[in-house]
Amino acid sequence: MAEQFATLHCEPCEDCRFEAWQRIVDGRLRWEESHHCPAYGVQACGGGWGPPPPWVRERIVAGQGTVRLAVGGPDGLPLKAVRELYGLTLPELIAAREHGIEATPVEAELLSPGSGPAGPG
Ligand SMILES: [Zn+2]
Repeated sequence: MAEQFATLHCEPCEDCRFEAWQRIVDGRLRWEESHHCPAYGVQACGGGWGPPPPWVRERIVAGQGTVRLAVGGPDGLPLKAVRELYGLTLPELIAAREHGIEATPVEAELLSPGSGPAGPG
């Protein structure tokens, strides 16, 4: 009996399709990614809570761009919310307060409720 091995190719080929996106589920940030390769018949997907891993975030930013948000002060985002969402260290938080943050549209929506489209909940 021959054994079947599923071969995952690690190097993306020209047929590889990657998609990554973010959404808000129950008030929490969630990211999803999918990888589909018609040439090798590979289909994979993944996801997680909180800020996405760098390579996922790169794809989201490439597709959607970022918005600069002020942190702290009367017009800025609450420091606590920013720190909790991104898991910032104190020096990172201070830098964010000084320079603002680059948030994806979904992160911006989560961090600044009321500025997004109005809806129930
Ligand atoms: Zn491929």
